[in-house]
Amino acid sequence: MIEKLKNLEEQASMLEPENKIRKSWAEQAFDYADKYINNLESAKAFYANTERESSASDFEISEKGESFSSLVKTTDKTIDPSGINAASGFHFGYIPGGGLYPSALGDFMADVSNRYAGVYFAAPRAVELENSLIRWMCNLMGYPETAAGNLTSGGSIANLTALVTAREAHGLKAHDFHKSVIYASRQAHHSLQKAIRISGMREAQLRYIPLDETLRMDTVILESTIEADLQKGLIPFYINASLGTTNTGAIDPIEKMTQIAAKHCLWLHVDAAYGGFFKLVPQMQSHFAGIENADSITLDPHKTLFLPYGSGAVLIRDRMQMYRAHRYAADYMQDTEVADAEMSPADLSPELTKPFRGMRMWLPLKVFGIAPFRAALEEKLLLAQYAHDKLKSIPGMEVGSRPQLSVTLFRYRPESGNANAFNKTLTEKIQADGRVFLSSTTIDGIFWIRIAVVVFRSHRHHIDSCIEVVKEIIDQLEEE
Ligand SMILES: *Cc1c(COP(=O)(O)O)cnc(C)c1O
Repeated sequence: MIEKLKNLEEQASMLEPENKIRKSWAEQAFDYADKYINNLESAKAFYANTERESSASDFEISEKGESFSSLVKTTDKTIDPSGINAASGFHFGYIPGGGLYPSALGDFMADVSNRYAGVYFAAPRAVELENSLIRWMCNLMGYPETAAGNLTSGGSIANLTALVTAREAHGLKAHDFHKSVIYASRQAHHSLQKAIRISGMREAQLRYIPLDETLRMDTVILESTIEADLQKGLIPFYINASLGTTNTGAIDPIEKMTQIAAKHCLWLHVDAAYGGFFKLVPQMQSHFAGIENADSITLDPHKTLFLPYGSGAVLIRDRMQMYRAHRYAADYMQDTEVADAEMSPADLSPELTKPFRGMRMWLPLKVFGIAPFRAALEEKLLLAQYAHDKLKSIPGMEVGSRPQLSVTLFRYRPESGNANAFNKTLTEKIQADGRVFLSSTTIDGIFWIRIAVVVFRSHRHHIDSCIEVVKEIIDQLEEE
């Protein structure tokens, strides 16, 4: 036994490399990061999947380890130059991300100490730090002291958490689901439909409320639909408002919707995954009127707070509703019950063990302060308008309505032929070119190309270059 243990210890000790090795690995990783960031301006924003350099066997796991340097090389040669370059200032597709550097360092530190941030007893300061971030977001949204929230892995989980909390708060049981009604605009993010299915409410009725000409929910029809449903003996219970649709950045009339929800006792959820942090920009306040009366709010720090992926947030106005929907006491956890302590993330979310996500959000907010975030967000709004104006002045170009947030839509009207087909080809060519990344959408049968300005690295010259690339490719297509 002693001999065996000695032998095993020797092998297992490989898992704790000595200082010199750690330093060398860290140096290689940091050098790689530096090179990556320094090359972003000239790197592609999109690598089509045809450009694969090596084979899938790079990813195979075996008994014997490999050199760290060869794995950094695989990252450099195989993993990173493929698909969307999410860190690039030329990434304008979908809702882009970014990835602030201090967040990466925050993850690094949080991962080394491996704080157990799910439960207050296990990591009181880490939980306090996360709760103070949640409080900061609650204050930003005008929520009362009685609100609570959770740092999730993203907006989809935040939306799911809100729906589950609402379902429990309304005391809905399986036999009610087929009569329960959820209201949203057709432009609502599809994570709502996923949440309905995952929360077991597939039989619930999802009503799409028609939109006005700027793609915002028509609240007159919303109210008359709720009243008609009540007449029919159904259970209207949940309204999903979009504060910035993913497609076009349209903002639903939040204030009116909270009033309708309150009048008929429905839960009002604001999906502000994309738009929420624009609350930091003074000129945007009017769009947020009434949000303090919403029952729940989704935010996505990995979008408009520029964090690396893996950071969403859900806020619930009445913390007890969140607690009742998620808390569970296990016998083996009896030591962790601390009277009057802060609420633990484990009591407010489906997770028990979770990463210390707060660190990657707290570090950049502390080190930079809020001012540069505010400026960057205002810059993105202006850049979208700048792109809109610039595109509009190009002969043959049609633009969508003036951007409410930081998404602008355009389509080219070719001299002859089908415009939808032309713009589809145009999108494919832009993506194959890869200098910029744009994605497309279809609204009422019309094919549009989108420029979504969200990456903190995107500035005016990125927009100028983007429009130059678009013009260049249009000219090529017109010639053909
Ligand atoms: C991105 C987005 C989501 C989904 O968030 P993930 O972080 O991708 O899970 C939900 N709603 C809206 C409006 C979004 O833009």
